[in-house]
Amino acid sequence: MPGRAECDVLVVGSGAGGFSAAITARHLGLDVLMVEKESLFGGTTCYSAGVIWIPNSTHARAAGIDDSAENALTYLESIAGNRLDRARASAFLEAAPEMLAFLEANTHVRYGLVPTWADYEPDLPGGSNGGRSLAPEPFDGRRLGKRFDNLRPPLQSMMLLGGMMVGRTDLPHLYNMMRVPKSAWHATRMFARYGVDRFKWKRGTRLANGNALIAALALTAEEKGIPLWLDAPVMRLVVEGGRVSGAVVAKDGREVHVTARRGVVLAAGGFAGDGALKARLYGHIAAGREHRSLPPSTNTGDGIRLATAQGAGFQEDVHHPAAWTPVSFLPQANGPPLPFPHFIDRGKPGYIAVDRRGRRFVNEAKSYHVFVPAMIEACRGDERTECWNICDHAAIRRWGLGAAPPRPVRLKPYLDSGYIVSGATAEELARRIGVDPAGLAATIRDYNAGARRGEDPQFGRGTDAYQRFNGAPGHAPNPCVAPLDKPPYYAVRLVPGDIGTFAGLMTDGAARVLDKEGRVIEGLYAAGNDMASVMGGTYPGAGITIGPALTFGYVAGRQLAGLH
Ligand SMILES: Cc1cc2nc3c(=O)[nH]c(=O)nc-3n(C[C@H](O)[C@H](O)[C@H](O)COP(=O)(O)OP(=O)(O)OC[C@H]3O[C@@H](n4cnc5c(N)ncnc54)[C@H](O)[C@@H]3O)c2cc1C
Repeated sequence: MPGRAECDVLVVGSGAGGFSAAITARHLGLDVLMVEKESLFGGTTCYSAGVIWIPNSTHARAAGIDDSAENALTYLESIAGNRLDRARASAFLEAAPEMLAFLEANTHVRYGLVPTWADYEPDLPGGSNGGRSLAPEPFDGRRLGKRFDNLRPPLQSMMLLGGMMVGRTDLPHLYNMMRVPKSAWHATRMFARYGVDRFKWKRGTRLANGNALIAALALTAEEKGIPLWLDAPVMRLVVEGGRVSGAVVAKDGREVHVTARRGVVLAAGGFAGDGALKARLYGHIAAGREHRSLPPSTNTGDGIRLATAQGAGFQEDVHHPAAWTPVSFLPQANGPPLPFPHFIDRGKPGYIAVDRRGRRFVNEAKSYHVFVPAMIEACRGDERTECWNICDHAAIRRWGLGAAPPRPVRLKPYLDSGYIVSGATAEELARRIGVDPAGLAATIRDYNAGARRGEDPQFGRGTDAYQRFNGAPGHAPNPCVAPLDKPPYYAVRLVPGDIGTFAGLMTDGAARVLDKEGRVIEGLYAAGNDMASVMGGTYPGAGITIGPALTFGYVAGRQLAGLH
């Protein structure tokens, strides 16, 4: 006998998109059920930095930042061109500040503006030198009680000491803990709290980043009485009279028919775990090249499949089918190597990236989404798509290299495991990593000549506010440029990866799923990466997936409650 359940709104998935839709609908008086395929909730959002891109927020206005939705739209148009769906982008820009105000007034979610975090192409028309990206405040995981065990932990490679989270605002303190008393105090408190936590908990309970966001949302959902079924994948949608009226959910070894009187929200996180679809859409995978997706492998595109089975349109016409990042692999004594995304180390002073010929191929201080296509292009005629992030001894001790942290952490374990490779000279390093020795030596020599003046004549590192934000504050004359002249030299190998998908379901500005002809499928909504990127497959700034995920979740929740 199949089971039965009823609700007003069924939400599929427990990431940013799902929780936002569920909490909004519940707040507006609807009876909501959330279902999650995994035994852990939080999806990719728990792996993320939790940063949101929300132009013209109340935080920005309070900080005196002059911005507007029109300005932000101009920026999106200049970056995404004719792949921008203007109506959907406008709907996002209009609802986003309202969404953030709603969450901060009615949930445990708290965000802080990072006023100098510039857009990724800040010099394009409408671009901003800071004020659109916000980071979540730390959250005390103990407030979740037993539920903490089911909160998906961050990527293992991104925690310190096997279980301590480091937020974006903690990073400067950790970099400076050996030289600035205030930072030493901040770091001491973090380590002390972590030490105490480990007597009782499997990992640190001072949550940062996406874990802090999801924990805050989950606590709110629990307080508002929203049931969250774990280990409960949606198998298929139910359609009656041309309208989505519910879904069949697998639970405890049987099928449960869930009737959703108002509708279903798909927030199952996109298709980064669907090998076949990726092989069709990612050119380098089709060409047999290495690639590593960072979202949970169980994000297999279920939401997209459920909807397309009912005639929904799948939008592939995006600049890029996914959000790219270069990835390195940290070997483990027991178990497979851990992937580590290289978001910021490439842009610090004293680092360059080279191909197997030892040549640079891009301004390394540009965003990860720009770096990977350049790497793919540079390696087009090669056997493998890979490059090496290279630095000297001064840089690695100051900033670390990928998952290898800076001083005082010892480098030896990272060298012994083979994660990083060193060489007393550029030629020796090159031979050890299979790069052309003469090529690398020439590249470092040429780069150093400009770097001594704080310049990068070849690619222009440090020429905009975003690059300088990720560089070394106070490093003059160019926060992104320093010569590599303090041997030994170090290298870590990078390959293409992604942090989530951009191709997705066709939707309108009200988060309603559309069929291939652009007609609304009644009762069906999408949020997060199940929905095609509102950025047209571009990466305009920090937080451009979770900002829209929370916003369109909020929009869907309101629509379902009859508010427009
Ligand atoms: C290391 C890293 C850092 C990142 N940092 C940022 C950042 O700071 N800012 C930003 O904007 N983006 C960031 N991203 C990208 C961002 O995390 C994702 O784009 C975003 O979290 C996707 O949210 P979502 O709600 O769509 O999906 P998810 O958070 O992945 O949630 C989807 C959930 O749906 C569940 N599900 C799947 N199928 C089913 C089914 N059939 N039935 C029920 N449930 C199902 C999944 O198990 C999952 O729990 C980062 C990503 C990574 C990997």
